[in-house]
Amino acid sequence: MGHCLQVQPRGSSTRMSDGTDSTSGPTGISAKQAEDDLAKSERRFRLLVESSPNAVVLAAADGTISLVNRQAEVAFGYQRDELIGKPVEMLVPQRFRPGHPALRAEFMADPRQRPMGVGRDLFAVRKDGFEMPVEIGLTPIEMPEGLCTMATITDITLRKRAEEELRRTAAALARSNEELEQFAHVASHDLQEPLRVVRQHVEFVQHRLDKALDEDTRQSMDLAVDAAARMQALIRDLLAYALLGREGRAFAQTDMNAIVGMAMGNLAARIEETGASIRHDSLPGLMADGRLMAQLMQNLLGNAIKFCAKGRVPAVRIGARREERSWLIFVEDNGIGIEPEHAERIFKMFYRLNPASEYAGTGIGLAICKKIVQYHGGRIWVETRPEQGSTFFFSIPDQP
Ligand code: ADP
Repeated sequence: MGHCLQVQPRGSSTRMSDGTDSTSGPTGISAKQAEDDLAKSERRFRLLVESSPNAVVLAAADGTISLVNRQAEVAFGYQRDELIGKPVEMLVPQRFRPGHPALRAEFMADPRQRPMGVGRDLFAVRKDGFEMPVEIGLTPIEMPEGLCTMATITDITLRKRAEEELRRTAAALARSNEELEQFAHVASHDLQEPLRVVRQHVEFVQHRLDKALDEDTRQSMDLAVDAAARMQALIRDLLAYALLGREGRAFAQTDMNAIVGMAMGNLAARIEETGASIRHDSLPGLMADGRLMAQLMQNLLGNAIKFCAKGRVPAVRIGARREERSWLIFVEDNGIGIEPEHAERIFKMFYRLNPASEYAGTGIGLAICKKIVQYHGGRIWVETRPEQGSTFFFSIPDQP
C-alpha cells in the first residue's frame, strides 16, 4: 500500500505453503509477540485518535464506520454506539448521499492522504439535522481488518460565519463609499454653485448700495458674505476629505525632505508673516503617495504655525525616528497646546477647540491627516501640554 498509515505488527504471522501457520515470522518474532505488538500499536493509535481536537471517523472500504473519537460524538451529537457499524453516509446531508459511495470508491482506487472536495463547500449533518460546513482531511490507513479511510473533520461554522460577516461589511463599506462619492459630487457642483451666486450677489448689492447702507445693514451683509465664504471653505475641505485616495494607490519611494520643502513652499506667506522658524532633521524616504504626504505635512505644519500664542514666534521642528517596521515622523511646536481630554477628539471631523474668530479653520485638517495616515496603514496621535506646545506623531509602515 503506497502512502497509507499502517497499524500492523512489525512481524505479522505468515501463511506457510503447506497451509499451516508458522509460529515465528520472517524476523524470528513469535506469533504471540506479533499479536502483542499489534494490540499495542492499535491501542496507541486509538489513544491518538481519541485525543485529537478534531472529529475523527474511521470507515471501512464499504463505508461502515468502525471507529469514532469523543470529538466526533460532540460534533455530530451522536453517542459512539449510534455510529459504529453504520454507513458513513448517515453523516452526509441527504442530497449528497446518492453520490457519496462513488466518491468513496474513487478514493479507495487511489488511496493517498489529501483534503476532501477541494474547491467545493463541504457539509456534514448532525443528529439534530443541522448542516455544518466542514473541512475534511482523508487518510488511508491499513487496519488489521483491511484498508480503511480516516476522515478528520473540522467544523468551520464559525469561520464561515466570520467570512460572511466580513463579506457583508465589505459590501456595506463599498456601498457607503459610493454614496460618499455621490455626495461629494453633489457637494462640489450642486452646493458650491448656488453658494457662489449668493456670495457674488450679496457682494454686488453691498458694492452698489455702499454709501446708502446704514451701519447695521452693512454689518449684516458682511456677516452674510463671511458665512458664505466659510461654507465654501467647508465644502472644499469636505470634498478633499471625501475624495481622498479615490484615484487609486500611487505609492512610490518618497523623499520626506523634499515633501517638507514643498509644504514649506506652500506656506511661505504665513511663515514669512509670522517669522516662524522651521527646522527639520534629515528625513527618510517613505513608501508613500507623495501628493498625500505633502498635504499631510502641510496640514501639520500649518497648524503648528497657526496655533501659536499671541506675541510668541512659532518654532517648529520636524524629525524622524526609526521603529521596528516603520518610520515615525513628528512635528513639534511651541504653540498653545491641547488639553489632554481633547487629544483624541481633535482628529474627528469639525472638532475645534478655539473660536474661529481667533484661529481660522474648518476643523477638517486633522481628519484629513488621519485619513491619509490610515490610508498608508499607519497611526497618528498627539502628545501635548497646554501652553507648552504639541508634538504630532505619525507612523508609516515600510510595507503599506
Ligand atoms: P482647523 O485647523 O481647521 O481648526 P484641524 O482639524 O486641523 O482644524 O484641527 C482641529 C483642532 O485641533 C484645531 O481647531 C485646534 O483646536 C487643535 N489643534 C490642531 N493642531 C494644533 C496644534 N499644533 N496646537 C494646538 N492645537 C491644535
